[in-house]
Amino acid sequence: MVDCFFCQIAAREQPADIVHSTEHVVAFRDINPQAPTHLLIISREHIESARALRDRHAAVLAEIFQAAGHLARAEGVDSSGWRLVTNVGPDAGQSVHHLHFHLLGGRHMGWPPG
Ligand code: 5GP
Ligand code: ZN
Repeated sequence: MVDCFFCQIAAREQPADIVHSTEHVVAFRDINPQAPTHLLIISREHIESARALRDRHAAVLAEIFQAAGHLARAEGVDSSGWRLVTNVGPDAGQSVHHLHFHLLGGRHMGWPPG
């Protein structure tokens, strides 16, 4: 999608600190980190949110979860623990309308954050 900022990051048309890139998935550091490790794992395909997921996205989702495990190990937070979260809609605070998962780690996290 032309006007989507995360599509532009995936296409390397906008700068980002990319830490992982495959055919279906890109991961980069959040510009406003909420934890020592705060990565965003996104689909290359423009998908509005988890609400828009369909059967044909199964492989993309599997890759996102595989990337999360790989990146948690690479960031050194695998044994201390990490969180993978995706926000959908206004109550959850979704601000970018392109599917992304926050990978958070490196500090203790309350539940829920409020
Ligand atoms: P949401 O609120 O939609 O769940 O998450 C959007 C995330 O994107 C936020 O954590 C925000 O800090 C991050 N973000 C917004 N703009 C940029 C940007 O230009 N670059 C990077 N790396 N992250 C961004
Ligand atoms: Zn997009």
